[in-house]
Amino acid sequence: MGDCLFCKIVAGEIPATKVAESDDYFAFRDINPQAPTHVLAIPKRHVPSLNEAEDGPLLGGLVLFARDVARDAGLADDGYRVVINTNAGAGQTVFHVHAHLLGGRSMGWPPG
Ligand code: 5GP
Ligand code: ZN
Repeated sequence: MGDCLFCKIVAGEIPATKVAESDDYFAFRDINPQAPTHVLAIPKRHVPSLNEAEDGPLLGGLVLFARDVARDAGLADDGYRVVINTNAGAGQTVFHVHAHLLGGRSMGWPPG
């Protein structure tokens, strides 16, 4: 927690391009975007990964928060993807649970 990159972004100790904020959530642009829109939506409360998540309303609210960011970015009609990488095998590199919001281009399936 004390050394968590995303907690430091929420605290303003590390700069990030904020996209949206609410009492419980924060959204900012990914530093290495994989799509024209690539936003990270996180709960302000530190939870390392989906594996440790116990607060259903907090996690459900995170998905709705990402949905609202997608809508505000004009992505609702064309479509977008919300992804939560969980642990190393899925590509999780920052251990503060986050939803990737990706949009603005067509997406392949299955993901890599
Ligand atoms: P993960 O791989 O854990 O699912 O996603 C972590 C994401 O955080 C990556 O897409 C990576 O580009 C992004 N990221 C890593 N460090 C920073 C940073 O300092 N600032 C921002 N805005 N994004 C970061
Ligand atoms: Zn954290």
